[in-house]
Amino acid sequence: MRALVPPRSTPDRDHDFARLGAESWDLLVIGGGITGTAVARDAALRGLKTALVEQGDFAFGTSSRSSRLVHGGLRYLANFDFSLVREGLVERRRLLDSAPGLVRPVRFIYPVYKGDPDRLGKVHLGVRLYDALSLGHGLGGTKRLLRKQLLHSIPGLRRDGLQGAVSYFDAATHDTRLTLAVARSALRAGAVLVPRCRALGLSGNQDRNGGARICDLLSDQSQRGGQGDREIEVRAKATVLCCGPWQTLYPPATVKLRTARGTHISIKNRRIPLDGYIALRSPRDGRLAFAMPIGQYIVFGTTDDDDRTEPGLVRPTAQDAGYLLELANHAFPAVDVTPEDVTGIWAGLRPLVAEGSGEDADALSRRHLVVRGPPGLWILTGGKLTTHRRMAEDLVDAIVPALAEQGVEAGLCVTTEGKLLTGDLEAGRVRLEALGLSRGALDSASGLYGNSLEELIEFLPKEPTGDPDARFRRAQIAMAVKREWALSLDDLLLRRLEPGPLDLKQCWREAPAAARELGSHLAWSDREVTRAAAELRDGITRDLGAAGIPLPT
Ligand SMILES: Cc1cc2nc3c(=O)[nH]c(=O)nc-3n(C[C@H](O)[C@H](O)[C@H](O)COP(=O)(O)OP(=O)(O)OC[C@H]3O[C@@H](n4cnc5c(N)ncnc54)[C@H](O)[C@@H]3O)c2cc1C
Repeated sequence: MRALVPPRSTPDRDHDFARLGAESWDLLVIGGGITGTAVARDAALRGLKTALVEQGDFAFGTSSRSSRLVHGGLRYLANFDFSLVREGLVERRRLLDSAPGLVRPVRFIYPVYKGDPDRLGKVHLGVRLYDALSLGHGLGGTKRLLRKQLLHSIPGLRRDGLQGAVSYFDAATHDTRLTLAVARSALRAGAVLVPRCRALGLSGNQDRNGGARICDLLSDQSQRGGQGDREIEVRAKATVLCCGPWQTLYPPATVKLRTARGTHISIKNRRIPLDGYIALRSPRDGRLAFAMPIGQYIVFGTTDDDDRTEPGLVRPTAQDAGYLLELANHAFPAVDVTPEDVTGIWAGLRPLVAEGSGEDADALSRRHLVVRGPPGLWILTGGKLTTHRRMAEDLVDAIVPALAEQGVEAGLCVTTEGKLLTGDLEAGRVRLEALGLSRGALDSASGLYGNSLEELIEFLPKEPTGDPDARFRRAQIAMAVKREWALSLDDLLLRRLEPGPLDLKQCWREAPAAARELGSHLAWSDREVTRAAAELRDGITRDLGAAGIPLPT
């Protein structure tokens, strides 16, 4: 095992890119979603010399487009997939302990109507089984609610046929910020992580070595004075593909994946005040979906349709929006949610391990798969946001013997213990409250930064005057650049900050001011600032337009 490297909390992309080609690595990870960053973290913490390349931003693929649940998956009980549910519940407990605030318990309410496939008693039994499967790691609070109690707490809920509900606790997070927390933990453990770098081809050879040809996607942009693409060879003893739905584009063909598009929409929560996540059934096909209160919004999702579009080009469709509006209006008939009310819409592709053919994407297992490819190459795919840590442990366990044959020793997995982030959530809240941050901004920030909240204080602008929330926003932007690899306005507004995709119209309005602030950290010219704002606005206009949502005025 190699000597431990000194902890590092600040990425330096140019320096890290130079290291990629200049040094040789035990492990090269391709893909910077939750899966790839988790592998980099696990491997670096075991003492392996680890590099990761991501073609876009961290979490730019599926890992920023999930329902943000950290769960065992109550509905997988219907497939008798008990070990999968149990695995998710164990990881839920670990995440609640290791990233407090960023991962938090949330209350779920599961209403049951006459004619539903599962009766109230069965749902209650299912939830109790769900709790039991957590073997002492349950969140408690499961109870049956009478129809009257339910209508009292959710007055707008559809009354016809309502029989009662079961209420229980599960957990939720912010998917991109969880991925960033994992990436930062990998960095602290000594891994080198470089965004905007695409693997073009693998260089596996007869000596069992891996490695890949990498292209620096920033080198053709103005940031580098218009130099051509930089291509380098990265040498590594083992390479692992963690490419999520992109895996379908790459050999080997032994990995059979199905990609299913899932879309969410959001509306302002004043339309439907909810204090818990509500399970809903689509009136069109009976599928289970959720209404999820997140900050000032209610998110409805998700759809689930096979989609073979190139993952980078996946967009929500007008049909998706129609399906979700119908779901919302069926559940809350008095509210009349229209396309004008929709503030955000986004879609992602689930990388599902295809175990059989012809199965409905909804019924396919969320299991993960570790596959050994040609010499030096491994693939890790499938799985869930919730189970990323376990996926990484299984993959690195599989690679360790092959590395040992090449004289590289690795320690045991240590990610079952300790905190993902450093710091104390309560201490951070107290200090920020004393600096005048509003309760709303504080709650939102706790959900984004968890116990690392206090770190933001060092980025607050020096002048102590002005609106505290606005100063805090500037600190968030500075930290996004200096500690969280933000390189573009999308990285900032659509992934690192709230409201992100939950309110694309708000992002559209904020684009010019945010581009100016971001540009001041990235040394952008006035032209670059204007172009960044225009590009973000064009993207939002296109996505809303394609889904039939009226554009911001
Ligand atoms: C609608 C929806 C809802 C979901 N809800 C939940 C939920 O509530 N809870 C839960 O636990 N799970 C959920 N999931 C599942 C979860 O989001 C995914 O399992 C997980 O995000 C997949 O992560 P990943 O890292 O494998 O893939 P991705 O996040 O897609 O990452 C793959 C990365 O590889 C990069 N890449 C590809 N090719 C290259 C290359 N040549 N060079 C460099 N980089 C490359 C891509 O840019 C991408 O960033 C949901 C999924 C969807 C679609």
